[in-house]
Amino acid sequence: MLDRLSPQAPDALLALIRLHAADPREDKIDLGVGVYRTEDGATPVFAAIKAAEQALVDSQESKSYLGPEGDMGFVNALMPYIFGKDATMGGRIQGMQTPGGTGAVRLALALAQKAGVTRVHMGVPSWPNHAQILADLGMELAPFDHAKADGTADLDAVLAAINGAGAGEAVLLHACCHNPTGIDYTADQWAAIADAFAASGTFPIIDAAYQGLGAGMEEDAAGMRGVLAKVPEAFVAYSCDKNFGQYRDRVGAFYVLAGEKGALDTAFSNANALARAAWSMPPDHGGAAVRIILRDADMTKQWLAELDDMRARMRGVRDALAKAGRAGRIDLAPLGHQNGLFSMLPVTKDEVAALREDHGIYMAASGRINIAGLTHANLPKFIAALAAVAV
Ligand code: PMP
Repeated sequence: MLDRLSPQAPDALLALIRLHAADPREDKIDLGVGVYRTEDGATPVFAAIKAAEQALVDSQESKSYLGPEGDMGFVNALMPYIFGKDATMGGRIQGMQTPGGTGAVRLALALAQKAGVTRVHMGVPSWPNHAQILADLGMELAPFDHAKADGTADLDAVLAAINGAGAGEAVLLHACCHNPTGIDYTADQWAAIADAFAASGTFPIIDAAYQGLGAGMEEDAAGMRGVLAKVPEAFVAYSCDKNFGQYRDRVGAFYVLAGEKGALDTAFSNANALARAAWSMPPDHGGAAVRIILRDADMTKQWLAELDDMRARMRGVRDALAKAGRAGRIDLAPLGHQNGLFSMLPVTKDEVAALREDHGIYMAASGRINIAGLTHANLPKFIAALAAVAV
């Protein structure tokens, strides 16, 4: 039976990790993997998470099962950060815990499918797993261009998608820190997007995987909140894996905005059934640690300060890149006003290979770079190598 299976393409980034690990050059630079790094190249556990984990070890009395909705204390404690002061929008928003943002995206798309959505419009390029999940569910992807050549968002393309979507169609947007381009909608663009959703009745699915890594927790949520304020129904897929540094502990949540309580109850009876059939219930540990932090004012302060440091370091790298101006034919200025962990360089596959082979600089074949892989120490080497390769 197993001979009926054909091998699948290996994950390109995992292959890159292996190549990087095997490279003996001491000044090699890893811009591939999508995790935050300090100036020393480390991806440390947040001190606030360490403290919360210790408190969890000291206080947890049972590891008996929770339900498919996970730790609702975690789910509810996050809501003011995501949705603002009126965190339930008058009782119209409810959530459940998921295994990471990936679980949340999977659940959002599976529930949309159950509610009759067959086709999802999405700006490309995007996080590769969006397309993979859609394909796995047998849903159609209707791509539009996310960005223009000048490194800003293509507003006309997203408005055309929202206005042109028919019955049984949804539009998926990134809340902030777009992966892989770093190109976010401006406040004016978000306002136009919210108006288009309201006027067209198209269903929004918002993926928020990097809140706090762009301009700040509140700032990064503003565009999404503007949409939610104007539409009758929407889904939000949320990840704590970057803004709490929880990557492998798989911390996420799925939220539904609906017209009234009855609709929310029905949505979650379906979402719970989907979760039970897929993973039964989410892993507890990371979400419990987030709950402990958010219920303690001092720990919350500590977490926000750590997040501020991360954001400031990435902004510093972006400012330095923009200040450098050019590297060969590459204009680095747009990277200065992009956000989050990622940006795309307009390099060819051959140039990516030359950067790797001749200079020990590792990045995805698409030209996506992890901004946090750059430091004040390795930036001059990176810019010089790019100038030598991208002539
Ligand atoms: N959405 C986007 C846009 C992402 O980039 C990622 C992860 N890199 C996720 C969702 C999923 O995050 P998680 O690691 O929490 O599954």
